[in-house]
Amino acid sequence: MLRAELAGHGVGEPVARKVFARVHRDWGSRLDDMELLPAKVRAALADLGPFPELETLERRRAADGFVKYLFRLPDGAEIEAVRIPLPHPADARALKERRQRGEAHGLVALPTAKYSLCISSQVGCALGCAFCSTGKLGFSRNLATWEMLAQVHAVLREADHPVRGVLFLGMGEPLLNYDNVMAAARILSHPAGLAISADAISISTAGVAPAIRRFAAEKTRFRLMVSLAAPTRPMRLSLMPIEERWPIEELVAAVRDYADTSRSRVTLAYVGISGANMSRQAARDVARLFAGIRVKVNLIDVNDSAGRYQPPTDAEVAEFRAELSAHAIPVVRRYAGGRDICAACGTLAATRQGGVVLGEGPGR
Ligand code: SF4
Repeated sequence: MLRAELAGHGVGEPVARKVFARVHRDWGSRLDDMELLPAKVRAALADLGPFPELETLERRRAADGFVKYLFRLPDGAEIEAVRIPLPHPADARALKERRQRGEAHGLVALPTAKYSLCISSQVGCALGCAFCSTGKLGFSRNLATWEMLAQVHAVLREADHPVRGVLFLGMGEPLLNYDNVMAAARILSHPAGLAISADAISISTAGVAPAIRRFAAEKTRFRLMVSLAAPTRPMRLSLMPIEERWPIEELVAAVRDYADTSRSRVTLAYVGISGANMSRQAARDVARLFAGIRVKVNLIDVNDSAGRYQPPTDAEVAEFRAELSAHAIPVVRRYAGGRDICAACGTLAATRQGGVVLGEGPGR
């Protein structure tokens, strides 16, 4: 849009690219301050002010190093984003090898080398998944593209390590705000923007089937992550009301299209709930549904702040995993960090609880 606006004023592509880079790297840059633009163009664009800053209401650090940000938007709405510390890949590999040799057990803290950010795409969410705090807020509005980018810039500005990944997995259903989310993802990955690898940008969905088809048709390079908490219609109806609008068969057909087009393995984020969806039969149902589609399962413990749903036991996980492995479906149990500050998956609800409240300044 910015480049089209500049082209309308006769600004050529090389200069437009520099302006784009300034605007998206130096958040808050003003077009009317940019001397690389002719004075006439600057005057004409004077009304296009800089993108506003988000007001950071609070930062809370969890015991495991996750930091949750609470932002206030210009209209007073509050949203959250989570900064996730990641180790250097070589350290992570070495730890994996030590685990395989039985020399490391449980959680092992590794030095932080970079961050990934989990950002919000809507204020609240209309989909009302039974295990999710955001769903209980209801839906207020979609975030504008700049409001998603501003979350990244607010965190980046004070981070002591680079941001190398972004997850559209915070508050809201990203594919119900498709155009704005995709515009934000494109700017984040653009070489003249923040140059975050498209492979490191994940967009999650609870199952908006038509938007998955659009995602596939557009051959986007970003990763799709499908949130799946139930492999049968009755189970899904009780946990994810989206089943009424886009039944599970329609979701699977859309995922098949996406897998065929992208030729990549689709990530199913499976929210594990003890006594509900972790039986051997549930694993068989997942395998049956996705037979012939290249998928992998990221198993994430449910985080229900109301306490109604409990995470699976180790025995349930072992059984579920064994059954999926028998069907050649890779399973990884994902660590859901930041539990003590309500920063884990399913707990973002603009609350102020737990952890250590941080001040301003790099590397906090
Ligand atoms: S899990 Fe995602 S889609 Fe479901 S209610 Fe929460 S934010 Fe919305």
